[in-house]
Amino acid sequence: MTHLSDIEIANSVEMKSIKEVAAPLGLKEEDLTLYGNYKAKLDARELTRLENEKDGKLILVTAITPTPAGEGKTTTSVGLADAFTKLGKKAMIALREPSLGPVFGVKGGAAGGGHAQVVPMEDINLHFTGDFHAIGAANNLLAALIDNHIHHGNALGIDSRNITWKRVVDMNDRQLRHIVNGLQGRVNGVPREDGYDITVASEIMAVLCLSNDIDDLKEKLKNMVVAYNFEGKPVTAGDLKAEGAMAALLKDAIHPNLVQTLEHTPAIIHGGPFANIAHGCNSIIATKMAMKYADYAITEAGFGADLGAEKFIDIKCRLGNIKPDAVVLVATIRALKMHGGVPKKELEPENVEAVVKGLTNLDKHIENIQEVYGLPVVVAINKFPLDTDAEIEAVEKACKERGVEVVLSDVWANGGEGGIELAEKVMELAEQDNSFSYVYDLEDSIEEKLTKIVQKVYGGKGIELTGPAKKQLKQLEELGYDKLPICMAKTQYSFSDDATLVGAPKDFTITIKNLKVSAGAGFIVALTGAVMTMPGLPKSPASERIDIDEEGNITGLF
Ligand code: ADP
Ligand code: MG
Repeated sequence: MTHLSDIEIANSVEMKSIKEVAAPLGLKEEDLTLYGNYKAKLDARELTRLENEKDGKLILVTAITPTPAGEGKTTTSVGLADAFTKLGKKAMIALREPSLGPVFGVKGGAAGGGHAQVVPMEDINLHFTGDFHAIGAANNLLAALIDNHIHHGNALGIDSRNITWKRVVDMNDRQLRHIVNGLQGRVNGVPREDGYDITVASEIMAVLCLSNDIDDLKEKLKNMVVAYNFEGKPVTAGDLKAEGAMAALLKDAIHPNLVQTLEHTPAIIHGGPFANIAHGCNSIIATKMAMKYADYAITEAGFGADLGAEKFIDIKCRLGNIKPDAVVLVATIRALKMHGGVPKKELEPENVEAVVKGLTNLDKHIENIQEVYGLPVVVAINKFPLDTDAEIEAVEKACKERGVEVVLSDVWANGGEGGIELAEKVMELAEQDNSFSYVYDLEDSIEEKLTKIVQKVYGGKGIELTGPAKKQLKQLEELGYDKLPICMAKTQYSFSDDATLVGAPKDFTITIKNLKVSAGAGFIVALTGAVMTMPGLPKSPASERIDIDEEGNITGLF
């Protein structure tokens, strides 16, 4: 069977003008800042005007523990929104913006796949409306201010061996991970060890995504810790009087971007924080606006439901004061086989037995969503071309036996049409009462918060802090940062911190190696292993296959 590539499918569909796409939501031309015919910015300030208007239902799309290829959360989100549109409902998606780095690397974009995509995908994947560049500029302004401050006498006593703020660039460039700068004598700065992160790893990205408005943005920017002084006390962006200029650079980036799906459902694509050292969701402003304009706002949290959904709930929902009405748990036959113990190279041939064995992973995620997060859930089996009827029936049967809602979703092959049953089920669930709850209280100690996440969500025994993490925990308490939510940085491939433990492991301990505050974004990052904040490119990067012709047609983007 040959399939058209994502970009071929995207190019075969005629887009509507963004004004036409926005019209069914009651949005007029003056509500949009147009970036050409097919992209526009909405106005974040509208949230204040619409404050007392009724909110639409918020639908969270998450997944079981994934394979490295991704299980189709974005694809399902897009197809589900299109299915709502087909049913005559007002629906809107709120998704993350892709980073340039991965576009040229291995995995590819974040604009959905097959017949469930957002367009114009070339733009979305390449520069889009410039938000990431603005974030990079704000980040690097702050970096320049730090070194400039030291150069001009260092009144704040910044310890140049303890500067935590890095420079950023939106590219996978391992060469820049560790650098030395300020070389060549007095006039050229003060030499020090430094390094680059990829733009999406900047705390400013997380700040932008967790801000409720421009004042909130400035406050959060001000609180960001950039270094420690010689007494070990934090130095903030506010100490460098940087927040105003940074916010000015972000004046457009704070406004959500509007595009469309292949079936012309309005889609907001806004913000793209890392899913490990940050919370991995699109902006609060985008999600709230989708809830104001549509009856069904569909959003995605990165990684599996143990990581992404937990952070969505405990960080984003808490800081944005929102709550989901229903959860779609995406499951794939290939991921279930992996959890059934099948090696990654052998996931294609039919193997019902392995699928059934792998259900332990699905079961634990269902239990978490229903009993820990207190939300209604439907399992969406994202149908892949090689899945067999027997494999799909095994999953459906198991869910039915457990009294769990399950539907087959075929949006990748059929667009909105393939998601009608899913949309109907989601509508039903969203009407139910739920007992939404956070996993921990902010008042809990850092150790209690970590332990609750590990015991309730991961199914582990508890936590162990390494030497440095113990010391950092004490420091965070002394500095008064201990009442913030936790942002877990853990492998997405297992409930545990060992990527090879598939299924639903038990009796494991999570080792916390590092605790670091993101005081601006407003969370404590708990690192369970080394996290790469500047990726590299593979031996044969995707960039080798990307090209553009005289007409401006781009090829090779997935
Ligand atoms: P996630 O958001 O969970 O990371 P994506 O929706 O981005 O996953 O999908 C990951 C990749 O898998 C994309 O390249 C997408 O085109 C592809 N994909 C998703 N669903 C299907 C499907 N049902 N059949 C074939 N390919 C799919
Ligand atoms: Mg995705």
